[in-house]
Amino acid sequence: MNSLRVIVWGENVQEQTDPAVAAIYPHGMHETIAAGLREWLPEASIGTATLQEPDHGLAEARLAETEVLVWWGHRAHAKVRDDIVDRIERRVREGMGLIVLHSGHYSKIFIRLLGTPCSLKWRVAGERERLWVCAPGHPIAAGLGPFFELAHEEMYGEPFAVPAPDEQVFISWFEGGEVFRSGCCWRRGAGRIFYFRPGHETYPTYLDANVRRVIANAAGWAGSRGQ
Ligand code: ZN
Repeated sequence: MNSLRVIVWGENVQEQTDPAVAAIYPHGMHETIAAGLREWLPEASIGTATLQEPDHGLAEARLAETEVLVWWGHRAHAKVRDDIVDRIERRVREGMGLIVLHSGHYSKIFIRLLGTPCSLKWRVAGERERLWVCAPGHPIAAGLGPFFELAHEEMYGEPFAVPAPDEQVFISWFEGGEVFRSGCCWRRGAGRIFYFRPGHETYPTYLDANVRRVIANAAGWAGSRGQ
């Protein structure tokens, strides 16, 4: 079998405009996320794409051979071209896996596929986040203990305006008292979708070993070729 083909898409905007973000992610968040995938999935083919490239790096032919697309966006959701969103949606329905990270909850593709506002509560206060594994047998939770923690993250709180997930893998608790459905699976057509909450741009979340493990596990799950 050929190796799993993954693209990590990053909007790559705040890395260029905010020195605090550039200090943590000097090569862009997408490169750090891709490095984590290469660490855990050495056999896979891991590429990157950004908003600024022609077709946002997602030309028809490239997307046609992609098995998993990982998406991080925040400030520039509105700048993503609608015809590219159409293209991604078609590929998901054909069977491409999609992993949407953090502020990607407001991306066009996530809202399109889920069909709900995808809104939530939030607060940037560097709070501790504890991610509880609520589906310990799930492939996305492989290798994790009962929970893991991030010392400083943005808080996301309920209500999270999404359809009830087909599978709930993580629920987060935050220092301020809120909880959030932080790891959710859905299926659309033949495609698998995973939303994973952590990853605010001013914290080194994508350098965290557990976070990297989860994204790699999710790539394996989302790209699992009809199994
Ligand atoms: Zn954020």
